[in-house]
Amino acid sequence: TIGMIAIDANGNLSGSCTTSGMAFKMRGRVGDSPLVGAGLFVDNEVGAAVSTGLGEEVIKVCGTHLVVELMRQGYSPENACKEAVNRIVKHNGIAKSKEIQVGFLALNKKGEYGAYCIQTGFSFAVCDSDTHNELIPSKHMI
Ligand code: ASP
Repeated sequence: TIGMIAIDANGNLSGSCTTSGMAFKMRGRVGDSPLVGAGLFVDNEVGAAVSTGLGEEVIKVCGTHLVVELMRQGYSPENACKEAVNRIVKHNGIAKSKEIQVGFLALNKKGEYGAYCIQTGFSFAVCDSDTHNELIPSKHMI
């Protein structure tokens, strides 16, 4: 998945995502990316989030909706992503989670951003009009 979340000069949030789907997927499979609240969710009052990785696991926790609702409760973007990852790891257990990759990326109304993934290997790019145009490795849980 390529997920993009943005905030404009007036503080308005937006998001979009694409997906590669999954190799050898079952005919008719629908991943998380086309499902609002799973692969992508934006609430202009609170924040925006996107996900990548094994869509079935993201769907089970309504992943990006969860991330945005956690930000509404005061979680930072990174901690909201971490908690969503934690739910997936808890559902699956550590051993099975080592076979799964899911990453979340989030942005809040203040322009703060963060990401978290299950295991190493997920990076995100930050771009703004001033200085940033950098690739940042996401923190990971296991
Ligand atoms: N999240 C996608 C899916 O499960 C896969 C991806 O492109 O990361 O369909």
